[in-house]
Amino acid sequence: MTKGFAWLVEHVSGGHRHGTHSLAGVAAFTGAAYAAGHYRQLLAGKIGLGLMLVLVLASGLRALKIGGHFADLLAIGGAAAMLYSGYGVNGVPLAIAAGTAAHLAGDMLTNEGIPIAWPLSRFHVRLLPEPLAFTTGTRPERWVVAPAMLAALVWLVAVVEKIMPGGRITLHH
Ligand SMILES: [Zn+2]
Repeated sequence: MTKGFAWLVEHVSGGHRHGTHSLAGVAAFTGAAYAAGHYRQLLAGKIGLGLMLVLVLASGLRALKIGGHFADLLAIGGAAAMLYSGYGVNGVPLAIAAGTAAHLAGDMLTNEGIPIAWPLSRFHVRLLPEPLAFTTGTRPERWVVAPAMLAALVWLVAVVEKIMPGGRITLHH
């Protein structure tokens, strides 16, 4: 599922770190999540939200080194359970905003940088000067970015719990 989606995005946006790695990209993903959640009573909204949840869950499983058809099955089951129960569904746009923004922050630390103002400018912004910037998948990523992401995740969970205790919403009124 994640490979298919990555292929599609790459061909639509013009390769990794183009349109998707900008503030416009964060807005597009967050807006799509918000729209799908807002229209989840309609079939189109359910399909959109379901697809998004499957992709997000499958990506999460991949990060835990669980991949292949088994992970797809788990992700589909998880997404169906979330859609049916409504558990955590309200938090999806916030989770996608935080996730994509954190991804951009991480990529800004690498020597490739990101075109943050795309499509206004194709200039790649990076936060660190050359000697400190690192290549994706190398040591600093594991020891600096991963703990920072974990801290961000803990903070996000605390925020979501504050906004929506229990993360529960009702699908049927
Ligand atoms: Zn990236």
